Amino acid sequence: MRPLVWLRADLRARDNTALHAAAARADRGVVAVYLLAPAMWRRHDDAGAKIDFILRSLRELAATLRARNIPLLVREAPDLDDAADALLAVAREHDCDALHFNRQHEVNEQRRDQLVIDAFESASIGVRAHDDQTVFPPGSIRTKQGTYYSVFTPFKRAWLAAARERDDLDPAGLPKKQADLACALDAIPASIDGFESPIDADRWPGGERAAHERLEAFCAGPISEYHEARDRMAIDGTSRLSPYLAQGVLSARQCLRAARDANAGRFSGGSPGVETWISELIWREFYKHMLEGSPRVSMGRAFKPETDALDWRHDEGEFERWTQGMTGFPIVDAGMRQLAATGWMHNRARMIVAMFLTKDLYIDWRWGERWFMRHLVDGDLAANNGGWQWSASTGADAQPFFRIFNPVRQSERYDPEGEYIRRWIPELAGVQGKAIHDPSRLDKGPRARLEYPEPMVDHAAARDRVLEAFKRLKG
Ligand code: FAD
Repeated sequence: MRPLVWLRADLRARDNTALHAAAARADRGVVAVYLLAPAMWRRHDDAGAKIDFILRSLRELAATLRARNIPLLVREAPDLDDAADALLAVAREHDCDALHFNRQHEVNEQRRDQLVIDAFESASIGVRAHDDQTVFPPGSIRTKQGTYYSVFTPFKRAWLAAARERDDLDPAGLPKKQADLACALDAIPASIDGFESPIDADRWPGGERAAHERLEAFCAGPISEYHEARDRMAIDGTSRLSPYLAQGVLSARQCLRAARDANAGRFSGGSPGVETWISELIWREFYKHMLEGSPRVSMGRAFKPETDALDWRHDEGEFERWTQGMTGFPIVDAGMRQLAATGWMHNRARMIVAMFLTKDLYIDWRWGERWFMRHLVDGDLAANNGGWQWSASTGADAQPFFRIFNPVRQSERYDPEGEYIRRWIPELAGVQGKAIHDPSRLDKGPRARLEYPEPMVDHAAARDRVLEAFKRLKG
């Protein structure tokens, strides 16, 4: 048997379920393939920073697989419905008699995969889809009634109960070494037209080695303070592993194992830092389950269908000010500028800017979701959509509509010294004291000398506007 392994959002050699299964069954070698899909990426608003990260991760992966005698081919299949032909061509070229891949849970990807399965079955080549993106396959953690959880805490409780019963959650190592196929490798392009990255590649080194170094460094120290440091935007208190998890350069099992090793093997109890970090990994799983259970969220629809009736604003001028970090609310602008400069934003800042767009500006959350995808190195439909719908109060276990963040209070609480703001807004670098959170507190003269805009909305009035809209909906 010579299986073909189709790599997608699972760009790693270690602990890769499909790759392992294929390598274990093979007796005539294994061929791996990745499909470059610029039309699909465009359709999905993928960021240049993300595609650049993928290409750099592929380069390391090709070398790792080569050492196991598994050639990694890189072919082009521009759009979703081009995948089947491209894969069949590789299968024929290399005489492969099975296809393995790890499941994805987004609607478009699932439709594409079904086309591939149909095409392979017509060609009498068997297909095996594996579950690998999460510790527990989406759909496998359910309520007693068999429904999907729509509230996080009971989901987490059920997830932890399931995890404690299992002794097979440990990550696997490298796939079995194969006999040399002497197959010519494809070149991995340095960049793809239309997906050039504006972000310094050193910020997000691609590949498994960098991912594991980050994971080990985080679990050796910062994880123990995570429960307290995670909301402080000026501190490097979170793992920054999201691009690696989003592209599967690192598996959820590997993260879980490393975290438990830092907590005497425990999932909960012991270190509050580890417990909180594992909880975030479970949020990731929660949103993947949501995607599987409520496919409409993959298609621009609200999780709570009744909120699709909200008359969200579509003001391009105001949206533009938000995207450029020129709202006049320093904490919002700092977040947006961190995103532009690094392709990443601190989680607390993501919540603040998303809440500001959807509540203070009452602009459609889909606009914000799209802007994030177009700029995030870690863009991931499940987490991004989950985060946006949480902030817009349209999602599963979302923030109740009446709990609206006050951006100035958030800033005072989570960036008390204003360090995060000064780092990202040079115009405010000289502002001292509490005025950093709200420059209108400065005297007229110093305020007038700042080249920084006045707040674009009155928070109290904006709050009333959106509360009215939600109340009308309820009425
Ligand atoms: P850590 O705090 O170290 O957490 C570890 C891992 O857990 C993360 O890498 C991530 O995989 C997962 N995780 C943490 N928090 C969440 C969460 N709230 N939801 C789901 N998974 C989580 N995360 C993405 O990976 N991609 C996105 O596109 C994305 N968009 C977001 C949009 C909004 C509006 C919001 C509010 C959140 C979004 N998140 C997204 C979740 C979260 O902000 C990031 O995962 C986190 O900031 C990444 O930093 P980290 O790796 O240091 O996280």
